[in-house]
Amino acid sequence: MERQERKAGIYKNPDLPGTDPSDEDVENSRKQTGMTKQNEALEPERSREQWGKKKGKKLPSKIEGLLEDLPRIPYGGSFVHNGCNVILRNTCNIDNVIQILFTLYKINKATGIWLHRLAQERDSACYFLLRAFRHLDSSEWAAARKIILVNLLKVGGAELEDGDLYESEDRILQQLGDLFIVVKNITCKNPNCRLPKQIDICPMRDAPVSLPAMIEEAFYCQKTFKKCYLCSYQGLTEKQQWPAIGPPPFFCYYLNQVENVCKEEHLLVSQKILGVEFDLFAYTVLENNHYTTVFLFEGKRYIYNGLKNKTLIKYRPSGPNHSVSTVWLLKKQ
Ligand SMILES: [Zn+2]
Repeated sequence: MERQERKAGIYKNPDLPGTDPSDEDVENSRKQTGMTKQNEALEPERSREQWGKKKGKKLPSKIEGLLEDLPRIPYGGSFVHNGCNVILRNTCNIDNVIQILFTLYKINKATGIWLHRLAQERDSACYFLLRAFRHLDSSEWAAARKIILVNLLKVGGAELEDGDLYESEDRILQQLGDLFIVVKNITCKNPNCRLPKQIDICPMRDAPVSLPAMIEEAFYCQKTFKKCYLCSYQGLTEKQQWPAIGPPPFFCYYLNQVENVCKEEHLLVSQKILGVEFDLFAYTVLENNHYTTVFLFEGKRYIYNGLKNKTLIKYRPSGPNHSVSTVWLLKKQ
């Protein structure tokens, strides 16, 4: 991972969660990117977005053109927080996760509807995610990063001052795990047992797998155990199912590399989870201490690399020392 110079500024007091980026940040961000003032509505209006073909530029397909024109988060960067400049390092740990979610949001209508529904709960992770997306839409990287770190991840104090995001992938995935939870219904035959009847399963936290082929088993539909965890009564049943609002339009799981190292060749192009078919949409690759993302569109693969964010890179297989870190699935249409 690229190491940058230590921050020059001094951190003072953390903002309260939910605080907006200051006008100073937004202005800074605009200056960096040469953007002009944009519509400040909370949610980007999909209907207003222009994905028009650039003059003289031949686009092989609508989706590829859309993907090419999408803002891509650059590696590193800085933002002003309480008057001090926070200089960030190792941002690829979280940039790839945000870039995938942003891409899903921009190209998949069902994802947009799903995220807006979850964002209705003020101060939820999704609420801040959509606020960050508003800035990504205008390439306002500093303002977007500030919301993600300060509001969504609740990074503050010396940690924020340091600006090092090394090993943050797991942290952001845990925060965003509620975007696609699974419900586990538990029944113990002992009428006096106090075992909870229902718990939420977060794939990042509660279903660790090291290879994609294991995920269908991790999200089993029904399992009968001989013994209750709590009362030791013989006859406990567990049933995993999608929540009452239905299955999410996308799904993500993390590969923990404990038993196996997941390579690109282990990926499955489609997977069935709790009876719902999903297609492989993207995956993050860790190679030489740097994360990149491979996106799959219309049978082709493209690479997002924050170090070369100006272009969408044509796919080439990863090197021998790579590992696949997260897998992102999109519900079959
Ligand atoms: Zn029991």
